[in-house]
Amino acid sequence: MAFAAHDTHVANRLLAALPHDDRARLSPHLELIDWPLRLPLNQAGAVIDYAYFPISGLASIVAYMSDGTAVEMGLVGRDGMLGVPALFGSGVASHTAFVQGEGSALRIAATALREELARGGALHQLLSRYAEFCLADVGQLAACNALHPLSARCARWLLRARDGLGSDRFGLTHEFLAMMLGVRRAGVTVAANGLREAGLIEYQNGQMTILDGPKLEAAACECYGFVVRERDRLLPPT
Ligand SMILES: [Zn+2]
Repeated sequence: MAFAAHDTHVANRLLAALPHDDRARLSPHLELIDWPLRLPLNQAGAVIDYAYFPISGLASIVAYMSDGTAVEMGLVGRDGMLGVPALFGSGVASHTAFVQGEGSALRIAATALREELARGGALHQLLSRYAEFCLADVGQLAACNALHPLSARCARWLLRARDGLGSDRFGLTHEFLAMMLGVRRAGVTVAANGLREAGLIEYQNGQMTILDGPKLEAAACECYGFVVRERDRLLPPT
């Protein structure tokens, strides 16, 4: 179904930043789809058929090791787009992506997106800057995973999820959070309990609630602030 509702398109930060004419040209190619939990989106080594602009859900890009362990290397919500490698060269995914927070997204065929990009103009400029942001984000994440303590990384991840979903409350299991942070469940439980005992979050029946955003930011490592500054430097304001 081609979706033309103006308010749906502007729920995504990137689409909202496009001039009206550019968004109108893209509109017939955008299809609103549900994002159920764990829906596979990209498979490592496979051609990327679609790029996704999340409306209310969250996608994780995950690196799997040969022993089955995994760690998240990207988190994409309504402030981004999943499928950046589809914009370049081979169009093949290097890593696997799936839905990590259920919701909805607008998808566009990679071929249609590339044709639109080839026109140059606002979309090309916007997605080039978004790709630059993704490079900064993944580089900082590599440093963060190597240098920063788990509880600060846990706080950083929760804040990124909040920003991507646009909500202080979201479904999350400890197993999932452990996988996202590349650690054992027991470790992430200790980290989350520390944040809860400090009154920063509440966690009940698989629902995470951020109670005190500013204090959670203070508990997070510097990487959260770095990425927010890079996002605001490179992307248009909301
Ligand atoms: Zn960090």
